[in-house]
Amino acid sequence: MPPSGFIRKLPGEIKVTHRPAEKQFGDVNFDSPPKGCGHTTETTGLPSYGRGQTDAPTFTIGTDTVWQHRGLGKSCGTLRNLAGGHETNRLFRIQFELIAFSTREPWLPSSSFQREALAAIKELARDELGVPRKHVWPDKQDDGILATTAYPRRHSRFPNAAGWYGHVEVPENDHWDWGSLRWNDLNAGPQMVDALAFVERFRTPAGRMRSREISPFFAGKPALRDWAVVPDGPNADNMDELRGRLFNAMISNRVWVAKRKVPENKVVA
Ligand SMILES: [Zn+2]
Repeated sequence: MPPSGFIRKLPGEIKVTHRPAEKQFGDVNFDSPPKGCGHTTETTGLPSYGRGQTDAPTFTIGTDTVWQHRGLGKSCGTLRNLAGGHETNRLFRIQFELIAFSTREPWLPSSSFQREALAAIKELARDELGVPRKHVWPDKQDDGILATTAYPRRHSRFPNAAGWYGHVEVPENDHWDWGSLRWNDLNAGPQMVDALAFVERFRTPAGRMRSREISPFFAGKPALRDWAVVPDGPNADNMDELRGRLFNAMISNRVWVAKRKVPENKVVA
C-alpha cells in the first residue's frame, strides 16, 4: 500500500497545519523511480494556488508555519504538464513550495525554521516515500539561461534518476526556481529511534509523583538486561549509582521498562 494521508508533524516535531486542496489529481506513479521536486513561491506570503488550490504542492513552508495541501503520495498540480510529452507532476512523489526568493548564486533560507523544515521534509520523503536525500544535479546551476525549456538539465536525468530536483530541472517547464539552493547542505539532526530504558516512579519533595529514566537508553531488551546484571561498564561509578537506584526502585515496586523516542546518538550500542 502506498502511504497516503495527512500528517500531524514533520520529523523533529515540526507541527503541520492542514489546508487540503479541493482539486485532486489522484495517486502518483509509484512505478517511476522515487523523486521529489522543490520550488520557491517568489512571494512573501502563502499563495492561493488558484481555484480549489489546483496548483498546490504537498507542503508549503512559511517563515513559521508548514502547511500540508495534499496527502503523501498524491499527485500535485504544481508543475506545468503539457498534453502528450512527459508526465511531470505524477512522477514526483512529493513537492514543496518554500516561501522565499531563489537566487542564481548558491543560497539557503535565512530563517532557521525554514532550513529545519526543509531538512525534515528531506527525511520524511526518504522514510515514507523512498526518495533518496540527494539532489540529482550539483546544487550550483550551470551557466546560461535557466528560465527556458531549453535549459539542458531539463533533458537528461528526469525521470529516471531518483532523488530531488528543482523546478528548473524538469522538462516542459520554464521556471528557474529553486535556483542554486544548497539542498545537499540541508542536514537534519540525528534520526529519532525507539529505545528502551528503566523508568522509576518517585515522589518529589513537594509530594508529587513523577517518573524518570534511571538507565541509559538501549536498542533492545537483551542489551538492557546486560546493563542491569553485568557489573562492568566504561563509567563504573555512574553506572553503579544508577544500578543502586534501579535496585531501590525494584524492591519498592516503582520501576518498569519504557519505550521512548530518542535521538539515535543517545542509544547505547
Ligand atoms: Zn516552481
